[in-house]
Amino acid sequence: MAGILRVVLGDQLSPGLASLRDIAPGDTVLLAEVMAECSYVPHHAKKLVLVLSAMRHFAAMLAGGGTSVDYVRLDDPDNTHSLRGEVARAVARHGPAAVVVVEPGEWRVMQDMNGWEQAIGCPVDIRRDDRFLCDIRGFRDWAAGKRTLRMEFFYREMRRLHRVLMQGDEPAGGRWNFDPENRKRLPAHIALPPRPPASHDAITREVMALVADRFPRNIGSVEGFAFPVTADEAEAAFEDFLRYRLPYFGDWQDAMRGGAPFLFHSVIAPALNLGLLDPLDLCRRVESEWWEGRAPLNAVEGFVRQILGWREFVRGIYWLHMPEYAGLNALGAARKLPAFYWSGETKMRCMADAIGQTIAHAYAHHIQRLMLTGNFALLAGIDPAEVDEWYLAVYADAYEWVEMPNTRGMALFADGGIVGSKPYAASGAYINRMSDHCAGCAYDVKDATGPNACPFNALYWDFIGRHAERFADNPRMAMPLRGWAAMPAAKRAALRARAAGLLATLEAGGTI
Ligand SMILES: Cc1cc2nc3c(=O)[nH]c(=O)nc-3n(C[C@H](O)[C@H](O)[C@H](O)COP(=O)(O)OP(=O)(O)OC[C@H]3O[C@@H](n4cnc5c(N)ncnc54)[C@H](O)[C@@H]3O)c2cc1C
Ligand code: SF4
Repeated sequence: MAGILRVVLGDQLSPGLASLRDIAPGDTVLLAEVMAECSYVPHHAKKLVLVLSAMRHFAAMLAGGGTSVDYVRLDDPDNTHSLRGEVARAVARHGPAAVVVVEPGEWRVMQDMNGWEQAIGCPVDIRRDDRFLCDIRGFRDWAAGKRTLRMEFFYREMRRLHRVLMQGDEPAGGRWNFDPENRKRLPAHIALPPRPPASHDAITREVMALVADRFPRNIGSVEGFAFPVTADEAEAAFEDFLRYRLPYFGDWQDAMRGGAPFLFHSVIAPALNLGLLDPLDLCRRVESEWWEGRAPLNAVEGFVRQILGWREFVRGIYWLHMPEYAGLNALGAARKLPAFYWSGETKMRCMADAIGQTIAHAYAHHIQRLMLTGNFALLAGIDPAEVDEWYLAVYADAYEWVEMPNTRGMALFADGGIVGSKPYAASGAYINRMSDHCAGCAYDVKDATGPNACPFNALYWDFIGRHAERFADNPRMAMPLRGWAAMPAAKRAALRARAAGLLATLEAGGTI
């Protein structure tokens, strides 16, 4: 009897995947490296190495366990370079009774997958992705009838449902959210734990050579690649986080320090989004660190909220609102992305640092993404499509389902308030408070209008003035709007002139 062809996508590298659970002798697992997925945005070189190396390791692991694996490599001369094309070729090779696959993370791929059955002439069973803690249909039920969707309330439901950080019916420690304690500036004397050492085996080295050869113009370099590519490596990296960084994760979650890309962050998103780690397991193990007295509650709750709350919430939002979400541009932002986003060549020290480390490591932590590169794009009115493309390309953990609601929603307010109740707009004062960047910057963070004034200041006030009418009814914007209205007209004009000068420089292709 013909077996089943079980298709595993590049971000579905979990042994417990719904499409592999009932695998039987005679079945074949297909993994295919295709150019369509490697090039729909110009991915960072390290992101390509990560996905391709992790796929090859996963295939080797399955094959080592006796599973029949059909692996199509990028340099296979017959490769059609589309998922559909490779499934069709594999169906022709194996003559399966059916194709089984788990729903993809991205809408674009789902659209394509819905057409597989007809195109390849073989039954296709698309199974739910149950590696998430909230099914997308469950999220739809939760959202139904609500006028606004707020992560905080969703998160509480998830805590109750999965019994994470609960004491009976109450949140552990008596509060749901310890965020106010997680906004400390990082003192200069605090030493940072080193990142766990990386080792490259023959598979990763081969992929590094392939990526360097086939994608020579993509941002970043394969050199210095250090992400986990197997479940065991991801596990070791997470253990390292639990031991050395989790206890301080909360206190300095929002802090930034020049030349220090990772601070006390876990750097697990690249492995987690590939399926090498299980989100509920991470939450439970982090929770245990508190119960056993090894980490404080503000750190543990802060981490759990990111995984059980934000990660699941943005996925729910994505599937609830696609495909319309990809076209939202509530603030009418239309400027081109400044060239320095791709080069890091700007006099703004904070931006040069965040973009420079992004180019070096395909990584930036949340506050850098939100309050530096995201905030600048928001204030400068950069076209959300260009911003989306950049974020999707440059970060090793970037897939549209998690990238887009964070970028278009949280950072740019292009969704008009679906994700957040107000834009995360901030002037240089915020960056100065949360980092050590300003002391060594070419610009003066205390000045807003002079030739050397911090660009964030004038752009911030120009943004507030530009959108004053739109936000007039938003109580969370009342303070800056009052500040803008109370300013002498001459000050407002000077801020606008400074902002216009900066934006004109950017529009002319110059740098600031
Ligand atoms: C504009 C913008 C774009 C982003 N794009 C992505 C993206 O493409 N992929 C991605 O995984 N995350 C994205 N994030 C969320 C967050 O910045 C990253 O998950 C985090 O920086 C990854 O580093 P880490 O693993 O060290 O995270 P930590 O700070 O250690 O946090 C732990 C984990 O929580 C989860 N998490 C935290 N915040 C969020 C969030 N807002 N949304 C979803 N998950 C979250 C991640 O899985 C992360 O690994 C984005 C945030 C912003 C503001
Ligand atoms: S002065 Fe302005 S541009 Fe310079 S580091 Fe500070 S916030 Fe960034």
